Amino acid sequence: MFDLLIATNNDHKIKEYKEMFSPLGINVHSPKEFNITDEAIENGKTFEENSLIKAKHLADRVKMAVIADDSGLCVDALQGFPGIYSARFAKERGGNGKANLDLIELLKRHDDKDAEFVCVITLLNVENEPVVFKGVCKGKILPAPVGEGGFGYDPIFYSYEGKVNFGEASSEIKNKFSHRAKALGQLVKYLKDKKLIN
Ligand code: IMP
Repeated sequence: MFDLLIATNNDHKIKEYKEMFSPLGINVHSPKEFNITDEAIENGKTFEENSLIKAKHLADRVKMAVIADDSGLCVDALQGFPGIYSARFAKERGGNGKANLDLIELLKRHDDKDAEFVCVITLLNVENEPVVFKGVCKGKILPAPVGEGGFGYDPIFYSYEGKVNFGEASSEIKNKFSHRAKALGQLVKYLKDKKLIN
C-alpha cells in the first residue's frame, strides 16, 4: 500500500478520496490522524502557490507523501475572477446561491461568457521538488442557474467538452470532464509510472 496524506480537514473530501484511491492500493490519511488541526494560511496569488502552501503545511511534519489541491472558477471576461477567490466570493455572499447570481450579473455587459474550472494538485515528499498536476475544464457561464445537482458554481456552468450543464450532470459524467478528475488522473498516472502503485 502507498500511504498518502490529503491536506484537507473536510471529512466529505477524505471519504471521496478514500473511495477513489483505496481500489488503487493507496492508503488515504487525514491530518486529524496526526493531530494536525491548524489550517494553512492561503495567501498565495495563484492556484499553484496556494496548493503548495497547503501541502507544505503538512509535508514537514510527516514522513509520507502529501497532496493538496486548490481549485476555482476563472471567468475570461473578468480577467480570471473569481479564480483563487472562488470560495471567498461565495462565502462573503452567504453561499453560492447569491454568488452565482452575482457572477451572472457581473457578466451581463460582456458578450464573452467563456470560463474555466481549474484544479491544481501539488504532491510533496516523493521527489526532491514539488510535483504539480493541473486540470482545466473549459466552458461558459449560463444566463441563469440550472439543475439541482453538483455544488458551488456548478449550476451556472456549461462544459464544452461534456456538452452538459454541470448542475444537471450525473457525478459519473462530471467525473469524466471535471478539472479535478483531470488533475487526479494525471496524479494516478504519475504514481503508476513511478511504480509507487499498481
Ligand atoms: P478550494 O476548496 O479552496 O479549492 O475552493 C474551491 C472553490 O471553488 C469552491 O468553494 C467552489 O466554490 C469552487 N469550485 C471548485 N471546484 C468546483 C466544482 O467542481 N464545481 C463547482 N464549484 C467548484
